[in-house]
Formats: sequence, structure tokens, C-alpha cells
Amino acid sequence: MKGQLPARISNIEERMLNSEGFQWGHKRRFNSYTEHIRKTFGGRIQKVVVDAGFTCPNRDGTKGKGGCTYCDNDAFNPSYCNPKEPLHVQIAKGIEFHAVRYRRAEKFLVYFQPFSNTYAPISRLKEIYAQALDYPDVVGLVIGTRPDCVDDAILDHLKELSQKTYIQIEYGVESCHDKTLERINRQHDFKLSEKVIRKTHELGIKTCVHLIFGLPGETSDDMFRSVRIISELPVDSIKFHQLQIVRGTTVEKEFLACPDDFHLFRLEEYITFIVAVIERLNPSIVIERFSGEVPPRLLYQPGENDGKYDPEKIRWGLIRYDAVLRLIEKELERQSTWQGRFYPGKDQK
Ligand code: SF4
Repeated sequence: MKGQLPARISNIEERMLNSEGFQWGHKRRFNSYTEHIRKTFGGRIQKVVVDAGFTCPNRDGTKGKGGCTYCDNDAFNPSYCNPKEPLHVQIAKGIEFHAVRYRRAEKFLVYFQPFSNTYAPISRLKEIYAQALDYPDVVGLVIGTRPDCVDDAILDHLKELSQKTYIQIEYGVESCHDKTLERINRQHDFKLSEKVIRKTHELGIKTCVHLIFGLPGETSDDMFRSVRIISELPVDSIKFHQLQIVRGTTVEKEFLACPDDFHLFRLEEYITFIVAVIERLNPSIVIERFSGEVPPRLLYQPGENDGKYDPEKIRWGLIRYDAVLRLIEKELERQSTWQGRFYPGKDQK
């Protein structure tokens, strides 16, 4: 029985593939953001992160204080970003930073990443976005924010911009379960995320969603449920992150006090889990990331412990994303599987 399986899978696979590859138009086994961007712009595009000095309503006391329990913006703010420097200086430094490490791109997307990048009066936002778009060879903006930080005026402005250039909003959704959102102190519920995603899509603005796997209290069934819910929403792209235990955060304290509350993954478990996620994700959703990495100085470093948790579930957070991506693609290949194979409701293996 076991020996017949690969032949059956490869027949199905053959039907999924045409000369152009899978339904997303290439032969990689998932709807890849890199390929999507290459197709959209006809070449390599580099994202350049900027810090425009925004804050967040979950930090300044408007919605909450202390922020989401896992949050440390230093964990994802590159070294070349300094909010004290004008935007054009940050963009120039970002372009240079990438040029010495990778093949120089000819076009750029300015990525407003740290904190909530729509959290300011509309007049200021208009000015900041215009400055970024005015920089030579910038072909669009990617704007990270919270679902409760956009209103009609902001969305209308982004709609206007998106009719002329590439605009994508990235919403931190993190989980589709209110019990989790409450526990991590997000200060908004999932209903709001859903409403805002639908509205953004209706206005024709590209919408990306972040989900975190391993949040306290969540089982892997809860995580799969989030993937199923997002698959039914008008989402253009998605980023997955494993929960990182970042030093000095509330999550670090909670984890050390009660590690059993966290369903974290060893690297090999995560690869297996993420392949199952890919199989269940709507194939029309472009996947931007499968995992995150944090600078070594920020990741909690498990030392000798009392056996209460497995340090290998934390340490792999230091592995470079490219290496994790290679393992995922290898596993997709090994299993002869692909994105959306079990979508919708074609489960289970
Ligand atoms: S919304 Fe974002 S920036 Fe604000 S506290 Fe949460 S993770 Fe941090």
C-alpha cells in the first residue's frame, strides 16, 4: 500500500502542473512572493525598511500600555534605520546596505515596518508617503500597521495612491482567536481585523496578513484554524512567524514561568507543521515568509535549564531565513506536495 502512494501522488501532481508550473505560474511548490514580485515588476525589487518615527496606540496608552506581550521592535528594525534621520537618508542607507550584501536591485519598495505606520494625522501620513515615493527608483510602499489604526481618510488616500503605484498594507492579525488576542494584549479582536481586511480589499489596496505560530494557550489545531479562516478572506499575501522568545518581553517572563502554555516547535517539527499549513492555505494567497529571525543579542538564550522546556525549540530562531526556506522547499519536494493541496476541505491525509 505504502509503495503505491508516490505514484498516485505524482499523477495528481501531474494534473496540477502545466507547462508554466502550478496555478501560480511557476514550478516552486508554493505561491512565492519573490516570484510574484518578479512577475509584477519584471525584475528584482529590494524592500528597504524605514523608521518614520511612528509609535503605536498599544504603547502610548491610547489603547493599552506596554504593547503586545511578544513585542520588541528592535527585533525587526535593521541597523541602518534611525528615526532621527530624514527619510531620504534612511532610504539611501538602506539601498547601500543591501547593495553590498546582495546583487544590486534597480527598483525599490519602501517598507514602513516598525510600530504602526498609519498612526498619525492624515496630513503627516500624506507628506511621509509622498517623500518615500519621490525617491528615485522607488516603485511603491509597503505599510505595516494594526487593523485599528486605519480609518476612511487613510484608506481613501491609500486607495488613491494604489491607483498610481504599488501599495500594500500589512496588518498584524497574529491569531484569529479572541482568547489569544486578549492574552497577548493586542487590544483588538479578530472581528475588527476581518472587517478591515475586507474593506481594504474592496478599495483595491493589496493586503498582507501576519500570523504568529506558538502564541500562549494555542494548540496546533488553533493555528490550523487560523490558517483556514484567513484562507477564506480576501487576502493577497501572508507572512508566518514562529513565536520568538525575545529578551525583556512579557512573553519571556510568561514562558519561563509556565513553558507548558506554549506550543513551540523544534526546527524539524516546524518544517513538518509548516508544510501541512502550506497544503491547507488558499493557493491564491502569496506567501511572503514562513518564519522569522531575530538578532542573537535579542533572543532569549536558553542555558542549562531544569528540564522544564526544550531549548532547541528556541535556539533555531537564530538560523538565517534562507536556510529555513531551503529546508521547507526540500520537504515539499520530498513529500511531492504543494500549496493548497488540501484546500478547501480536501483534508485529510
Ligand atoms: S501593535 Fe505592533 S508595535 Fe504595537 S505593541 Fe503590538 S507588536 Fe508592538
